[in-house]
Amino acid sequence: MISFSQENDIIVKESKYRKFDVNEIRRDFPILERKVNGKPLVYFDNAATTQKPNVVIDSMTHYYRYENANIHRGLHFLSEVATEQYENSRLKVKEFINAMSASEIILTKGTTDGINLLANTMCRADLLNEGDEIIISHMEHHANIVPWQLLCDRKKTKLVVIPIDDNGELMMDEYKKLISPRTKLVSIVHTSNTLGTVNPIKEIIEIAHKNNIPVIVDGAQAVGHQKIDVQELDCDYFVFSGHKLFGPTGIGVLYGKAELLNKLPPYQGGGDMIRTVTFEKTTYEDIPNKFEAGTPNIVGGIGLGVAIKYLNMFNFQDISRHENELLQYATEKMILIDGLRIIGTAKNKASVISFTIDGIHPYDLGTIIDTDGVALRTGHHCTQPLMKRFNVPATARASFSFYNTIDEIDVFINALNKAIKMFR
Ligand code: PMP
Repeated sequence: MISFSQENDIIVKESKYRKFDVNEIRRDFPILERKVNGKPLVYFDNAATTQKPNVVIDSMTHYYRYENANIHRGLHFLSEVATEQYENSRLKVKEFINAMSASEIILTKGTTDGINLLANTMCRADLLNEGDEIIISHMEHHANIVPWQLLCDRKKTKLVVIPIDDNGELMMDEYKKLISPRTKLVSIVHTSNTLGTVNPIKEIIEIAHKNNIPVIVDGAQAVGHQKIDVQELDCDYFVFSGHKLFGPTGIGVLYGKAELLNKLPPYQGGGDMIRTVTFEKTTYEDIPNKFEAGTPNIVGGIGLGVAIKYLNMFNFQDISRHENELLQYATEKMILIDGLRIIGTAKNKASVISFTIDGIHPYDLGTIIDTDGVALRTGHHCTQPLMKRFNVPATARASFSFYNTIDEIDVFINALNKAIKMFR
């Protein structure tokens, strides 16, 4: 039997950086070998969730088969093993995003959970009050809109929105103008899941910090595609989801600067987050435990740690170069298609292409090209204000990951042309 930690050591020891060979990488992801509707799967819905490599899948079944126990609670062998695996994952996350300390890594359910944690605790700490303003942008995912609206309802705080131009780029001059003594928080997406726009996040943070305003970064679409260094960015909080990083669902990360997290009250109450409990008074654990009430998603945490180890074998420059090639190639082919409109044409763009085709509803398009095995996303992508901004009810979206290929884009383009012929 290969033990879990031995298994991981094997991966890490292989080499610091693996040679970037997309065909070899694809063999790590078993689902990419399957067929859909009799055709080889072309998975272009990576912005929704990424596929999982064997090592992540195996680590999770291995844990349930041989190591399952609750963490932080027992002195018995299995509990200690499980605790060590889980806490090692926290350390992996810390190194991965270069946080100062592992205590700054709160393991959450995902991006949405992280933002809700912040909105709830900031509300209870009275950090945002009547007349205060929170700046977000027009390209936010609902996960970075609705939690703040819930807070605004309670506190009479105002949500202020940075506009975007027709290319889907933030209007930075407008951002500067929106900052005022009333601004108490900026919460902004790093990379748009709908437009692909990669925002000038460092500059956004610098501007906010010049005015002593803390910044939350929604990094859900950034983490799997570029190196994130939270100290270099100097963001105050950074949130992301494990499942968009080749890890499992139901696990995510909230990074926060220790001094700020220490000032926030607990989020949920229960086991694991307390130091002492009496009926008169309860005292709380330090961070990160203060924010992690109850039995966490142990296997999810372990899977996330392995996903990060897997990703660490690659150089992010290789990943970006490959994804950029896919983006360029697909864009060049797509703009030749009559009636196809790409929504989101920012200069700095991730490998996400949202589009519409005259005369075909995105839902019909998605359904038709699914028959060719091509998985696209169709709908509003949890960015309804953005749909309104571009005056479309929905878009189709192709989003690429580092395991996708030029050949798959050819299949996708052929499937698009076939679908168009059916309608015209
Ligand atoms: N923000 C962005 C930019 C996203 O793309 C997503 C997921 N589509 C989320 C937040 C929410 O992530 P989750 O559903 O994993 O909590």
